[in-house]
Amino acid sequence: MDYRNCRLCPRMCGVDRTAGIKGFCGQSDVLRIGTAALHFGEEPPLTGEGGSGTIFFSGCTMGCPFCQNWQISRGQIGAEISVDTLTDIMLELERRGAENINFVTGTHFLPSIVPAVKAAKKRGLSIPLLWNCSGYETEEAIDLLDTFIDIYLPDYKASEPHLTKRLYQAEDYPRIVEKALIRMASGRPLEFSEEGLMRRGVIIRHLVLPGELESSRKFLKWYAEELLEKALVSVMVQYSPVHIPGNKIKIPERYISHEEYERLLDWMDEYGIEEGFFQDLEQTNDWLPDFRNSVPFPSKQTRVIWSAVTKDFIDQ
Ligand code: SF4
Repeated sequence: MDYRNCRLCPRMCGVDRTAGIKGFCGQSDVLRIGTAALHFGEEPPLTGEGGSGTIFFSGCTMGCPFCQNWQISRGQIGAEISVDTLTDIMLELERRGAENINFVTGTHFLPSIVPAVKAAKKRGLSIPLLWNCSGYETEEAIDLLDTFIDIYLPDYKASEPHLTKRLYQAEDYPRIVEKALIRMASGRPLEFSEEGLMRRGVIIRHLVLPGELESSRKFLKWYAEELLEKALVSVMVQYSPVHIPGNKIKIPERYISHEEYERLLDWMDEYGIEEGFFQDLEQTNDWLPDFRNSVPFPSKQTRVIWSAVTKDFIDQ
């Protein structure tokens, strides 16, 4: 898998990114990140005492029209870094107490992440490695990830092809994500440390979309039938109508309602989903990050250790 004739994700753009040509993800072969931070808002077994060591990559293979991180996923914010710097960032995250290294949306940079991980392990990196992705992954990518990833944190965004076509320009998303999630969970039973930290396994995130509850119901039913007890589910209800400059795709214009929240709880009950994570209802967006700042996150939920604005390590 490399950047020439790029087929790193199911978009299969076939462009030569080494020649600076960009496909759907909007990135050449030059590694770019938006920030690296200790994050204290992930699911509790991923956060622990020290926080999850998140590295946010620029660009994205999905292009959600309401992306909370659009400044780095679709905008031009992000700093070019070398593979060596990525290695240094992983080691620094571990040195500052991270419980794991959390690669956020890294699929389109896999050929750079693999050598960085190898070098970091050679230099002593020992915490679990976590792949935080859209779930829109090829079989080849998962085979490669399986050689070094301990924990998968994939999304299952939506279950209806007409919806994934409209929102993500990916009618094949439901078919691909279901295959990918089953592959990720196969031979990867959930493992936790004595302190309750996740060491190995899969947590599937599902962001509920206002007005699209049928898509969520179908996902919960599929999860209960296919992956209950093999993977955990994390149901997120923090959807916020983020308006991305230039976006022409119609997005839901409100938060999740109390009635929708109750229906989700009823379905989880009906399908026998007792384990996992379920967010409290959020009807605010004051947690949205602004990646133009060296400290993009307004809350105390993160501690930035490397800033794309200063292009250096910082003490927050
Ligand atoms: S990684 Fe980017 S260029 Fe490559 S196939 Fe996916 S979207 Fe296209």
